[in-house]
Amino acid sequence: MFLFDAHLDLSMNAMEWNRDLRLSIAEIRDREKGMTDKPDRGKGTVCFPELRKGNIGIVVATQIARFVERGNPLPGWHSPEQAWAQTQGQLAWYRTMEKDGELVQLRNWQDVQKQLTSWETSKEEKKPIGYILSLEGADSIVTLDYLERAYEYGLRALGPAHSAPGRYAQGTDATGFMGPKGQALLKEMERLNIILDATHLCDDSFWEAMDHFNGPVWASHNNCRTLVNHNRQFSDDQIRELIRRGAVIGGVLDAWMMVPDWVRGVSDPKQMNCKLEIVVDHMDHICQLAGNALHIGIGSDLDGGYGREQSPYDLDTIADLQRIPDMLAKRGYSSEDIANVAHGNWLRFLEKAWTNQG
Ligand SMILES: [Zn+2]
Repeated sequence: MFLFDAHLDLSMNAMEWNRDLRLSIAEIRDREKGMTDKPDRGKGTVCFPELRKGNIGIVVATQIARFVERGNPLPGWHSPEQAWAQTQGQLAWYRTMEKDGELVQLRNWQDVQKQLTSWETSKEEKKPIGYILSLEGADSIVTLDYLERAYEYGLRALGPAHSAPGRYAQGTDATGFMGPKGQALLKEMERLNIILDATHLCDDSFWEAMDHFNGPVWASHNNCRTLVNHNRQFSDDQIRELIRRGAVIGGVLDAWMMVPDWVRGVSDPKQMNCKLEIVVDHMDHICQLAGNALHIGIGSDLDGGYGREQSPYDLDTIADLQRIPDMLAKRGYSSEDIANVAHGNWLRFLEKAWTNQG
């Protein structure tokens, strides 16, 4: 079945992990043997050949660069200008991959329709994977006029915050509001019709964003707080608000967001019984709140700074996402529901957001 994955950090992996995503997963893992600079060395699960193997023909792919104030111990750039430059390097990589026929950027609904058709009909072994450009954390938007520049090169979604206090909004493990600067960002996003990605917003900033943003909202990679009690996951009230606004929420496969009590660098997926099926529990919870299967999808985040050591133990590569439809079928989801979860909900969302049709 055709799959849509709403969250991958492809360019971060290329430019910071130094992974050539055109290679096979075996080659990428092999090249990292003996490296210890990142916890997931030799354990990556995402590359272009595996995306094709999993029939994942459209992804939302990020630019990402954090700014940190003096005294913030998190890794990040020391000025927004440096963060912007980092995202421009990432953009240059996406462009080079487009030139090489590995990726194709999707900027509007016609692009999406074209991609669906060519993916289905192409007999090529190396068919281009469609990507929608998103920015995870807005720190690199030096001033608001940078956002229009970003829109012009194809930016179509933006999460104002990431895992930290941010320049425009407060993210995971932070607290506090977006304030006038964040609200101005939301206004400019609305003018440009950039999708608001609610993922990573802390509770205060989340509710403030809901109050001030009238454009399309999705949550690209988010699980449920009822199942894993942490501020990174959404409470039932937040999920209900997203449903009310027509959002789609992407189930995420980072082990610590799937099962409770995960300790980074210590817990083991097998011992924690973290298997692929758990993400369906999160999806199912959202469906119970919604009373339908129209608000969930996949937002795997499988290359978000971790690999097999922090992924479901029965997942080898991203191609294994192809097992999710079967898992839904076993739980009694209809074939129409399953197609919606695999791709239909994200596509319907985009059609509405990009053609202004009801
Ligand atoms: Zn993230």
